[in-house]
Amino acid sequence: MASQVETTVRSPEAYSLAHRVVDAMQEAAVWPTPLNFELWLHYLSAPDSPLSQEMARLLASGAPFTESTAEMLAAEFLPRSRLSEEIRDAGAVLNRELAAVASAIDKARESQANYGDTLAEAADRMAAAPDSASLGVIVSSLSDATRRIRRHTSALERRLESSNREVVKLRDHLEQVRRDAMTDALTNLANRKAFDEQLLRMCDQAETEGSPIGLALIDIDHFKRFNDTWGHQTGDQVLRYVASVLARIARTPRVAARYGGEEFAVIFPGETSGAVEAALNAIREEIGSRALRRRSTNDDLGAVTISVGFAQRRPGETAIQVLERADEALYASKRGGRNQVTNADTAAPAAA
Ligand code: GH3
Ligand code: MG
Ligand code: MG
Repeated sequence: MASQVETTVRSPEAYSLAHRVVDAMQEAAVWPTPLNFELWLHYLSAPDSPLSQEMARLLASGAPFTESTAEMLAAEFLPRSRLSEEIRDAGAVLNRELAAVASAIDKARESQANYGDTLAEAADRMAAAPDSASLGVIVSSLSDATRRIRRHTSALERRLESSNREVVKLRDHLEQVRRDAMTDALTNLANRKAFDEQLLRMCDQAETEGSPIGLALIDIDHFKRFNDTWGHQTGDQVLRYVASVLARIARTPRVAARYGGEEFAVIFPGETSGAVEAALNAIREEIGSRALRRRSTNDDLGAVTISVGFAQRRPGETAIQVLERADEALYASKRGGRNQVTNADTAAPAAA
């Protein structure tokens, strides 16, 4: 799919295609962001691709094509989103290398030990022979051989051990890179990219197993006002605080992520709608009842509240559809006065 698009954008029709892409984005009422441009470019130049078919379905459904819709499509269909998989694969290759080096060291040790045993045995037997003068010559030549092989194998061992250390260093570094690429630096939660990948995977799994899965979107209320009053740095402390509550409550197999700005998301695999709603209300109450203080000055900052929307996946529903319903439920919570949890399945439909 990608290569078909790459060829098209370097063809004589490229400019007319670009114009059509802009027109199509305008018609769909989306902003011409780089990501939307990329998506619509695929949509027009490779209409039969799975991405284009999913876009056609979404556009025909009449649901708003939001930024999260675009991000999810990118995570699922655009090749650059596979970077983390490549890093994982490179990690697997390195692990195999490491195992091979370790086994080479073991083998070298073993052959050295065997060689030493054999020589020692031979030396014993010859020492017992009658013509000790001639045997003495053989023994000393054999022990020279032993010293040589020992020197040789210990050099080999040193070399293998040093490459072993290198591989371990590389593997740790790669693991760190992988973790950084998946983690939000401010809050240490999973980032949006990691979250999107997990959500796709877990929705596939729920579909296969016929198991339930819930998705919540959490947005801090009036956070702009909070920042304007107390400053961005104090705002960052609040983001870290909210993240810490989510990290504690959303332990594995739940997944919590910073979805963007002051918005968080949690996946609840294998849980009923009632259990998810109860957990979310507990989070909402805990956060809303905490009297916040600025660390540096001990100023009383009041409390922040959160609005939450959640949707329980329906059979056959894609990750994007669940996200859309959770997003609508979040907006219902905002419209309903904030500091509340809305279940997409029981929410009143939005007024037109
Ligand atoms: P609402 O209740 O409707 O959600 O109101 P809101 O003010 O929270 O919503 P809005 O989307 O207008 O503003 C979000 C604010 O979140 C804007 C920005 O100042 C703040 N924000 C986003 N990312 C960060 C961040 O990394 N650190 C800090 N301190 N603030 C952030
Ligand atoms: Mg927001
Ligand atoms: Mg907000």
